[in-house]
Amino acid sequence: MRRALVALLTLLTACAPAVFSAPGWQAVVLDTRVTVRLVDAREFGYCSVTLVGCTVPVGRDCLVLLDRRYFLNGTPRQQTLLLAHEIGHCLDGSRLAYSHGGFHDAGRVYGAYYASPVEGFAEGYARAYLAACGTNLAPLGWTRAGEAAAGCVIPDPRQVRPPSAS
Ligand SMILES: [Zn+2]
Repeated sequence: MRRALVALLTLLTACAPAVFSAPGWQAVVLDTRVTVRLVDAREFGYCSVTLVGCTVPVGRDCLVLLDRRYFLNGTPRQQTLLLAHEIGHCLDGSRLAYSHGGFHDAGRVYGAYYASPVEGFAEGYARAYLAACGTNLAPLGWTRAGEAAAGCVIPDPRQVRPPSAS
């Protein structure tokens, strides 16, 4: 516990202050409090700068860092897959105790990057989200300019299974 706290403080120090003053929003997703920040990927700190999203678990809460340029310029589908993928990581931690929903290497069907259980589950969650809600990101706290906030019942992470098993 103490070790985790020290690691967390180190991490927050590494992120601050640019990350915490960056534009973003907060949302509660299936009882998990998610803080989203739009940053330059070079400010990820915790994750490779070659990625466009980075998720940092903070106990049962979650910090999601998105590359600002990629997210704001992305198509609605790209935005949805990115944000729902990162929130899939959050829910894997808060709802599934990082069991990754039984994914082994099944995520391979989405691309080589998703062959690991952790990435496979997150991408499986993103695809399930897209199937359930389309590109509506209001349930995750984001509405596009000129778009009305519409509700949607987002997927239960426990029901997201590896594609080969469905
Ligand atoms: Zn991921």
